[in-house]
This record gives sequence, C-alpha cells and structure tokens, in this order.
Amino acid sequence: MNLNLPAGKLIDISLPLDARTFHMRTYSGFKKDMQFEVEVIKDYQDGGYGQIVRGAHMRLHAGTHVDAPSHMLKGAPDLQEVPLRAYFGDAIIADVRHRGGGEAITPADLEKAMGDIILPGDRLLLRTDQNQDYDGSPAWMKTSSLCECCGDRLVRREADIANRI
Ligand SMILES: [Zn+2]
Repeated sequence: MNLNLPAGKLIDISLPLDARTFHMRTYSGFKKDMQFEVEVIKDYQDGGYGQIVRGAHMRLHAGTHVDAPSHMLKGAPDLQEVPLRAYFGDAIIADVRHRGGGEAITPADLEKAMGDIILPGDRLLLRTDQNQDYDGSPAWMKTSSLCECCGDRLVRREADIANRI
C-alpha cells in the first residue's frame, strides 16, 4: 500500500496500552465488563513452531484510538470506511494544558491557543498532558474535554470557509 506520506517527521501520539494501568468505565447498559487483558494462549515451550501466541481482550475504545463516526451516529461510516490517509498529516496543536481534569475547554481557550488558523479538513490536537498521569483511576477519567460550543464553533468555521470557496 502506498500512502504517499509527506516527507518529514512522523510523530506517534499513541499511548502504550497496559493492563496494569488502563481501566475503562463500564456504564449501565453494557452487556459485560471487558477490560484490556493480554493472554498467552501458547508459550514458546508448548510445541508448535516454538513461538509465543498472544490474544487480547479489549474494547475497541481502549487506550489511544479513533472513534468511528458510527460510534455515536447510527448508520454513519464504520472505521474501515474511513480512508487510512485521514490519520496522517499535519495538525494544529492547541495547547490547553491549563485546563484540569473535568474542566471544559472553552472557545476562548481555543482562540488563545490557535487563533483563527484552522481551515476545513485540518486536524486539531488538544494538548492537555493529562496522559502524564495515566493510571485509570476515577480521578484520571475526569479529563478535560471540548465544551459543546467549541464543537459548534469548529463546525461553523468549516462551514463558513466552505461557503466562501
Ligand atoms: Zn472511543
């Protein structure tokens, strides 16, 4: 597969997935609790070709991941329908480290962090550094997030620019 990646530095923003430190909330309505776990189903010394074979139990929302549009919108595309190219490329980084756990990132925060430079199709990364304390504790689960009006603002920005083209 040729992704035609741009020359330059590629930064992996994914966190290690570790059963000791990673724990997900299980809300009412879940059919079962499925936490991240790696299981050795055949070890080196157990015959076969002398290899180790591992299996993983996990939700598709464990650790660093992308939510498919269908995660929240019934009938929207599943992850395999999103072009792989969508995951590579330049991104705008909005530094919102001043927002603590459970706090909302506001339009003023975004304005201060990135001004008016975002364009349709741009990727936006929110730098919170909250993963520095990644331990799966209830306190950690209260990460900062975009307030609803920020999402609306970003969507409007894209719509405004698209209308001028
Ligand atoms: Zn998810």
